[in-house]
This record gives sequence, C-alpha cells and structure tokens, in this order.
Amino acid sequence: MSAFQAVSGLVFGMVVIVHQRDPMIDPDQLIRWYARAQRDLPWRRPGVSAWQIMVSEFMLQQTPVSRVEPIWRDWVTRWPTPSATAAAGAADVLRAWGKLGYPRRAKRLHECATVIAAEHEDVVPDDVDTLLALPGIGAYTARAVACFAYRQRVPVVDTNVRRVVARAVHGRADAGAASVRDLADVEALLPEHGAAPVFSVALMELGATVCTARSPRCGACPLSHCAWRAAGFPAGTLPAKRVQRYAGTDRQARGRLLDVLRGSPTPVTRGQLDLAWTVDPAQRDRALDSLLVDGLVEQTPAGLFALCGEGEAHADSAHSASAVTAAKRRR
Ligand code: SF4
Repeated sequence: MSAFQAVSGLVFGMVVIVHQRDPMIDPDQLIRWYARAQRDLPWRRPGVSAWQIMVSEFMLQQTPVSRVEPIWRDWVTRWPTPSATAAAGAADVLRAWGKLGYPRRAKRLHECATVIAAEHEDVVPDDVDTLLALPGIGAYTARAVACFAYRQRVPVVDTNVRRVVARAVHGRADAGAASVRDLADVEALLPEHGAAPVFSVALMELGATVCTARSPRCGACPLSHCAWRAAGFPAGTLPAKRVQRYAGTDRQARGRLLDVLRGSPTPVTRGQLDLAWTVDPAQRDRALDSLLVDGLVEQTPAGLFALCGEGEAHADSAHSASAVTAAKRRR
C-alpha cells in the first residue's frame, strides 16, 4: 500500500474515488522525542564538516556505531579534509580502517577523497546528482550527506527508516525488499519546512534504538499512531533473517590476510600469508585472489605481497637498490 490509499464512496448517486491519506508519522511527536532521546554521536555535533559526515556515512554502512566511533575520531583528526585523505597512501588508509570490516569501503573512500580534492576544490558537493557520481557513493549516502551536511529536504532511506515506515504507516511487520518506491514513500512523510533534516535523522534514530528489527519497544515509542500496532501486530511474511556468522567465512580469511599485511612495513612472502589461515588452503587462496581482484592487495615483481600502493613503492626501492649495487659493481 502506498502512502495514499484509494477509497470509494457515493456522492449524489455517483461513485467517486477520493484519496485518503494513510496515517502519517507526526513530525512534531518524532522531533520532540529526538530532542530528548537522541544519542550523542560525534558526527552529529555542530561544526562537523560535510567531509567528516561523509566519512561517518562510509564507516556506518553495515557497521555498528560503537565500532565506528573511535576509528572515526582518529580518522578525522588525522585527515580532516578530502585533500588530506587523498594525500595519504592507500595503504595508510587501509591501516587506519583497522577492523571495521568490508575494507573495500576504505579504498572507495580514498578514491572519493581524491576526486573531491581534484575536481571539487576540496569541497564535498551539496547536490544529490553530483554526489552520486563520486566513487563509493550510492543512493543512501548521497542523500544522507545532502540532508545531514547541507540540510536539504531529501528522503534518506536506510534499513531502519524502511522498517519504521513499513510498520507505522503501512501496518506491516517488515519492509520487504528495497524498491525504488521507498524514496517517494519517505519523501511523502517529510515536513515541508526546514524541519525535514531533523525529521530524517529522528526517523533513523527511532528505527535504530526503539523500533528495532527483532524487539521493538513500543512502550517507549513516541508515535501516537502506528498502523502495525493498531492492527494488533500481524505477523510478517518474510522468513526470519538468519544471523550472519563471521567465523570461518571468506570474510574472516580476508581479514586475517589483511592483518598480516597491515602489520608489515614491507611486502611479505606467500608463506607468511599462508600461516595466517591454515584451516582451509582453498579458502585462503580464494580470499587472496579476491583481495588482489579488489585491488586491496598487490604483488611485487619479485612475487611478494603488499597492501595496495606499497608493492610499487617497494619495487621502486628494490629496483633503485639493485641499480645502485650494479653501479657499484661496475665501478
Ligand atoms: S509503535 Fe512499535 S512498531 Fe510502531 S513505530 Fe513504534 S516502536 Fe515501531
């Protein structure tokens, strides 16, 4: 059901179709609740730049706030601007990413910083279309940056928002598969005035802290109307989501291999990498191949392995060292 539903009625003997608004989310209720219940997150504080907000959005994808917060603080202190990030080596960026997981995000963030520094005068663009053209920026991140950094009235739709809207507006237990209609659905809820950005962040916060996937705390919910609650909490139609395991997965194997490379200032041998994951050699090979394909790891001409950007540097230094040795021999 969309944000509007058609109902029929009889007026002067004629059948007419009128559009009746679904119960909407009351912005005042939501914003008042957010003012008192919001978490104190460092990227929400005054004075945080658009770049620093963008960094937080990269890090928060599929990663809990508690793991992001310390890494984000160190990151923005060390590299407060896109150009500072771009000037860092890709390997330094991967090291600073630490154990946040999904390290391709770090590489894409570095690429994004490089484009902003080179093509946008070191300023994060403020319009959604330009943001979407940057490396690593998808529909959610583009709108999150436009909304939270530049206070634009754009729909910001993540999993939490989709779940709250599915329940409070549409009376469903779950949001189902993501769809292009989600944006229009959430846009229809935005208040018209300058309160849209705080409404958006409040909606996300409600989904993250109260209307959670497994155990919504309806007793603490600020919304006086929720279609799902009013309907008596009908069961969802989706199968229960399996908890993603990490132990023993290719992701864990990739992480172990990257740990070896992060901890070494120089390229390592294949044997050193092999020691990092001995349980399943085929899985280890697959993990290493995928790291090479993703460009997170590279091989030197001598067959050693290094973090991206460091193999070439060592090839150059090895080349210079051997050139000096050869020149000495010739003397
Ligand atoms: S009443 Fe419960 S289900 Fe409805 S929006 Fe609030 S927390 Fe979610």
